[in-house]
Amino acid sequence: MDLYEHQARGLFQEHGIPVPRAEVADSPQEAREIARRLGGRVVVKAQVKTGGRGKAGGVKLAADPPAAELTARQILGMDIKGHTVGKVMLAQPVDIEAEFYVSYVLDRAAGRFLAIASAEGGMEIEEVAASRPEAVARIHIDPAEGVTSAKAQEIADAAGLPAQTVDVLVRLWQVLVREDAVLVEVNPLVRTRQGQILALDGKVTLDDNARFRQARWGADEAVHDDPLEAAAAAKGLNYVKLDGEVGIIGNGAGLVMSTLDVVAGCGARPANFLDIGGGASARIMADGLSAILSDPAVKSVFVNVFGGITACDAVADGIVQALDAVELTKPLVVRLDGNNAVRGRAILDGRAHPLVQQATTMDGAARRAAQLANTS
Ligand code: ADP
Ligand code: MG
Repeated sequence: MDLYEHQARGLFQEHGIPVPRAEVADSPQEAREIARRLGGRVVVKAQVKTGGRGKAGGVKLAADPPAAELTARQILGMDIKGHTVGKVMLAQPVDIEAEFYVSYVLDRAAGRFLAIASAEGGMEIEEVAASRPEAVARIHIDPAEGVTSAKAQEIADAAGLPAQTVDVLVRLWQVLVREDAVLVEVNPLVRTRQGQILALDGKVTLDDNARFRQARWGADEAVHDDPLEAAAAAKGLNYVKLDGEVGIIGNGAGLVMSTLDVVAGCGARPANFLDIGGGASARIMADGLSAILSDPAVKSVFVNVFGGITACDAVADGIVQALDAVELTKPLVVRLDGNNAVRGRAILDGRAHPLVQQATTMDGAARRAAQLANTS
């Protein structure tokens, strides 16, 4: 799970990394009051989980509280790379003398964390790495040792960062370890004209596998950014929103993953991942169908079930009852195979819903669902 900048800033502050004073607002009026509290001049920053906000017009200086209100009004509701701005952070402006880049990321291939640091921060690190690879230091970290002062010194020296950043490098490692993060990034880490080191921007990605011991993020809105995902999660569904038009329901994560591939292979794009798991009760089928149908991008739905322990006739019963509970508004293609497939197909034939059609193979069903999505 990615955190918002203001949440990352909060973690930095808790671990003693210096950050500018800042507060979050979700209305222009609140932005104005915060600006007044912060001394008038503020930087207004869109809170979206994507980088490059500055370039996109989502980071702006406001000279006084009325200007902060106006700027917040412009930025709130703005779309930045597909993310709608719901909150802004107002931060005290600082006089920047130099901008640096520092991050720790999990390097899965190496089985270690990797420190990436550069004295050329501010812009996107991918661009620096592409044009001037020698300006980006990469140093692996032994997980048992972590980032000691000596290691931090080594990173700072390799990147050409001032000695004052050593303390921040050590503390940033503590954020990573204690908060169960797999990525922490500060871009830019700055030296001000007054000689102070400050983290002006922060990105933190938490390890979802460690969520059980990071209780504070439990019910946080940040878990599901997409409203459809949030609604599905509230019903206990294993649903992930994707960009396409073919809604997908399947039993078993592996089958659903391959269903996404087969649909893509047929020239259509899956609208979601939804694994209804082993059981296929009418309720879960109805919840799954209504979650998928509430996505306006969906043009057809493909239910792909392989009956194993759960027999296909039970799944078919679930679908029939779901069709009574949910108004089907899009064509539905069902493929039932495996345990009791023939009985399951007969049950669906018996229901004879005008929008439901069956196919006996996964490929055939995917082709049909793709066709329906591409022609409607
Ligand atoms: P993003 O990386 O999404 O573009 P940043 O938070 O890094 O957003 O902001 C972009 C740039 O705006 C920074 O590189 C920095 O130059 C400037 N900036 C950000 N916060 C402040 C601040 N509090 N004071 C002065 N300048 C800032
Ligand atoms: Mg940045």
